[in-house]
Amino acid sequence: MLQTRLRGRALTKARKLIRQEQPLCLHCKAEGKLRAWDELDHIKPLEHGGGNDRRNLQGLCRAHHLAKTAKDRGYSTQGCRVDGTPLDSSHHWHGGVHADAVIRDGSFFRPWVPPPLGEVVVVCGAPGSGKSTYVSNHKGKDDLVIDLDVIASKLTGRPIHQTGDSKQIQEAAITERNKLLRSLSKRKINAWFVLGGPSSVEREHWRRVLHAKVVVLEVDIKEIERRIRQDATRAGRMDEMIGWAKSWRSRYTPSSSDTVVDRAP
Ligand SMILES: [Zn+2]
Repeated sequence: MLQTRLRGRALTKARKLIRQEQPLCLHCKAEGKLRAWDELDHIKPLEHGGGNDRRNLQGLCRAHHLAKTAKDRGYSTQGCRVDGTPLDSSHHWHGGVHADAVIRDGSFFRPWVPPPLGEVVVVCGAPGSGKSTYVSNHKGKDDLVIDLDVIASKLTGRPIHQTGDSKQIQEAAITERNKLLRSLSKRKINAWFVLGGPSSVEREHWRRVLHAKVVVLEVDIKEIERRIRQDATRAGRMDEMIGWAKSWRSRYTPSSSDTVVDRAP
């Protein structure tokens, strides 16, 4: 007979025990990287007759857990994780942020946060697709806007898009962003969360965690290029940003759960 999945107190207990014994993602460790695990994995899946005993449980980071589950179910992942991010964690596609940050903590980019009390809209799209314009056109007067570019600008006192790419600034900005996301569970406030979010798996994560509506700006790349060239705040970085926009486009996986906006916001 198949065993049922661990839940509630039994799950908490198993997680705590394994966290103490082995805090790192074992697959990351096998690749020579140190990264805390996010999810408990059944080494032999329950649906293949595996049990809930300690010997059959291991902690994996979210990416490795997704990849293993896909493999267990017979899907291929060829060179990238199931969520579309490349297996090579030094690749700039990891949010365009230094690999060390990824290695440092797997839940850094996609933390689990307590459920927000107000309504949250996640606005996704390539650089230059008009995310911040969309938000300012739709937000209520007292709504909170959570945007990494704005956070980095505030932290450094430098103009938006000119804050540099240093690992310290990016980590500080993401830490601040995560703090803001967690604060949504403490007071009732509506929020707009601005995100690149080309991967449907990533958007699904935020939809679930924030109970959010997800809007994707599917703006034509020619139009994006035109806007980036006209945007003085992007001076000196235009070619780089057009490259990012093209990269976003090539990684974009649509999902029927998203609200798609395909004209200029
Ligand atoms: Zn891992």
